[in-house]
Amino acid sequence: MKRHAAAILAAAVAVLSAGHARAWDEITHGHITDMAVARVRDPELKAFLLAHRDAVQSGSAFPDWGHAIKPHGEALHARYLDVAFDDLTAPGAGARPGHDAFLAHYLGAYAHVVEDRVLDCTLKEQAKVVGERRDDMENGMLAIAGEGYLRRDYTPFVPEADLARVYARAGYFGDPRLNASTLASVMRRGMTKGAIQNRELKLLSFLTYDWARREFPWGYANIERAPGGFESNADAVTAGWEAIWAQLHGRPAPFFVYSLPGEGGTLASADRAAAYGRITVVARHRFAVTRLDPAWVHLVGDRSGPVPVVVRPYLDDGEHDIDLAFQIEATRSWTPGEIYRLTLDGPPDAAGRLAAAPLTTRFRVPTGPRFTDRAKAPRPWRLGLFLAMLVGGVGGAIAGAPDVARLALRQERPWRVARGLALVVGLGLGGLALWLLATDGVAVIDFLRAHH
Ligand SMILES: [Zn+2]
Repeated sequence: MKRHAAAILAAAVAVLSAGHARAWDEITHGHITDMAVARVRDPELKAFLLAHRDAVQSGSAFPDWGHAIKPHGEALHARYLDVAFDDLTAPGAGARPGHDAFLAHYLGAYAHVVEDRVLDCTLKEQAKVVGERRDDMENGMLAIAGEGYLRRDYTPFVPEADLARVYARAGYFGDPRLNASTLASVMRRGMTKGAIQNRELKLLSFLTYDWARREFPWGYANIERAPGGFESNADAVTAGWEAIWAQLHGRPAPFFVYSLPGEGGTLASADRAAAYGRITVVARHRFAVTRLDPAWVHLVGDRSGPVPVVVRPYLDDGEHDIDLAFQIEATRSWTPGEIYRLTLDGPPDAAGRLAAAPLTTRFRVPTGPRFTDRAKAPRPWRLGLFLAMLVGGVGGAIAGAPDVARLALRQERPWRVARGLALVVGLGLGGLALWLLATDGVAVIDFLRAHH
């Protein structure tokens, strides 16, 4: 029991701590990535992704074990996708054994980064607007906890030789914690840690998901369908994969692959400065967002004409100027009800020609607030019951301990003081147990959220 309690507390700290480098937890990434596979329209690509599901899923978990394999820091780590893609497309790379599996792993890692980006600059920002200060992991827990998803349902695949080659190429080696000779063991450790954390999440989320759903009713109602939630994440990944696949097969491929809102869609908010009132764009490869040429961006209102825009990194923290996603902000207020068209030409190719397939989207600005639903969730009881049984059980054991000891030792003396003390402590813990039950154990959650 003590070990379980410790595991739950450890998991609670892990779940409730806002690691800024991760946006979704591993299991939610895997779930969204599966949704993306199901949405792929190119039959050849879909068959490829299904045939290599272990590699795709392992790739989608890969960027976050992260902390074990990026002693060199976040910025350098972010270059992984670029270097891996160069490696996959280098002359002769296609003939290398395991090339397809490593490509599938790369597509999984790309999916992870897109999912994080789209979530971070939209739904996560909107959560603050509606007063729900959820942390990153709680986002995922809202919809997947208690639904049987909380496990790896694939065989972890670690393309050790490929990663060693890419890491050497990216200049990742050199830190004593990470070099060619330690890579394999560092990776195994990272992946094992992830699996342990999943188990802890499973245990903890079983006890707390009803609390999270009641505490974050907007998130619970919107995490799957609102912009930046599961559905749009999956659509963005699908679009990116299809463009990468086309590029790999020598077909014309868009550079900007996905936008929120999409063609025929409606902006989530009419407030131009809100995260939900900006246009979010995802690219096929990372590029220097802050150097995006304004001549590539055309925003025109049906009635109000051309609208000058500002291009913003998906997070304005100076660390994401080169990235896969960014946002476009109108510099004039949107007119509610009006239809706007955005055209985004790709970066020029080596010959200076603009991309063959510009991204275009015609969308409407809403006349009223959207995505305002809040879900009703039943009263949470699991954590309160668990803690009450734990504390109450300990209280009962303490209250009865002197009597048990007297019996065991065949003591005739009454042990009044010891029995009185034990009874007081036992009753105190019993009262604490009742209080935890009545308050659903929320004090424990509050404490962990404040002191992780
Ligand atoms: Zn992440």
